[in-house]
Amino acid sequence: MSRLKARLLARIDREGPMNIAAYMTACLFDPVDGFYPTRDPLGSEGDFITAPEVSQMFGELLGIFAVQSWRDMGRPETLHLIELGPGRGVMMSDMIRAARIDPDFLKAMRVTLVEASPALEAVQGQTLVRCPYPVSWVHSLTDVPAGPSLIVANEFLDCLPIRQFIRHRNRWHERMVMRDPDGADALVFGRSSAPEAGLDLSAFDGANEGDLVEYNPGLTQLCAQFSDRFARHKGRALLIDYGPAVSEVGDTLQAIAKHKKVDPLDAPGQADLTARVDFAALTRAATEEQLSAFGPYKQAEFLTAMGIDLRAAKLARQSPDQKPVIERQLRRLMDGGQMGALFKVMILQSKSLPDPIGISP
Ligand code: SAH
Repeated sequence: MSRLKARLLARIDREGPMNIAAYMTACLFDPVDGFYPTRDPLGSEGDFITAPEVSQMFGELLGIFAVQSWRDMGRPETLHLIELGPGRGVMMSDMIRAARIDPDFLKAMRVTLVEASPALEAVQGQTLVRCPYPVSWVHSLTDVPAGPSLIVANEFLDCLPIRQFIRHRNRWHERMVMRDPDGADALVFGRSSAPEAGLDLSAFDGANEGDLVEYNPGLTQLCAQFSDRFARHKGRALLIDYGPAVSEVGDTLQAIAKHKKVDPLDAPGQADLTARVDFAALTRAATEEQLSAFGPYKQAEFLTAMGIDLRAAKLARQSPDQKPVIERQLRRLMDGGQMGALFKVMILQSKSLPDPIGISP
C-alpha cells in the first residue's frame, strides 16, 4: 500500500469521508507524498506527455502569439508573461526563443512562472538556466506584481480539483471517497449528504435521476483573478486544455501512471489525476466576470491559424533528415484522433483589447 493511501485511510477514519476535490488535492500536492512534489512526471520516460513536450513548434507559435499580444496592448514598457503550471519549462523556453523576432518585446518581457511543485520548479530552473531575461517563481497568480500581462497555461485547468455530485430522488448528493464499508484497507467511492447551503448548482438544473455532474470551483476563482488583474492593466489569457465545448454529464476523473490509465483510488500519489475541462462552464465564468471570451477552438484550428504548417515546412527544410519526425509530431498535435480535437483553446481578455490572432474569422 502506498504511504499516502495509509495516511488517507487514517484521515478518513478520523474525519469521515472526503470529497473528490480534497482527494485530488492530497494526491497531487501533498508536500511529502503527492504526485507533483515528488517527481518530474513529464515526457516519454515519465507518466504522460503534453503538447510542448511533443514538439517545439507548439511553444514557438505561442511565442508569436505573445509578441502580437504585446503589440495589441500598445507595446507597454513592461509585459508580465505569466505561465500557470509550467511543467518542465519547455513551452516557456520555446516561446522566448521564438519571441526573438521582436527585441523590443524581449526588453519589455518579465517572465513569472506559477508553480506549486518544488520538484518541477527545480526542473524549470534547469530548462531556463541560460535564459538571459529575468524569470521569477510564485505560488499563486495573485503574487505577480501588477501590470499588463499575457497569461498562458497548457494542461493546467485539468488538474484543478473538481467536486462531483449525483442526482438522486431530486436531490444532489456529493460523491465522496471513503473506506470500504466491509472494513478492508481500500478506498471506495460512495455518496454522502447534500452539498452545503449556498452552493450554486443551477447550471445542472436539467439533470436526470442518476446523472453525475462535475463542478470545478477553480475555474470561477481563476476568472475572478483574471478579471481583477485585467481591470487594472490590459491583459489576455490563453488557456489550452482537454475537454468538451458543450457541458456533458458523467464521471471524467482520470488517473494516468506511466502512460496507462489506472484506477484513481488504487495508488494515491503515484498517478496523475485530472478531469476534463468543461469549456462551457469556463465561458460562463468568464462572462460573469466581464471578460471578453474567444473560443473554445479546437487545438488544430488554432495552430493552423497560427501557421503551424509553414513552421513545420521550414523546420523540415532546415533539417531534412528530421522530416519524418516533424511530420509525426505535427500529426500528434493536429489529428482529430490525437490532440487536435479533444484539446481546446480559449482566450479571455480585457474588454478594450482587439481580437486576438489565431482565432477563426
Ligand atoms: N504545462 C506543462 C505541464 C502540465 S502538468 C505542459 O504542458 O507540459 C500540470 C502543471 O501544473 C505542473 O507543473 C503542476 O505542478 C502545475 N500545477 C497544477 N496545479 C497547480 C496549482 N494549483 N498551482 C500551481 N501549479 C499547479
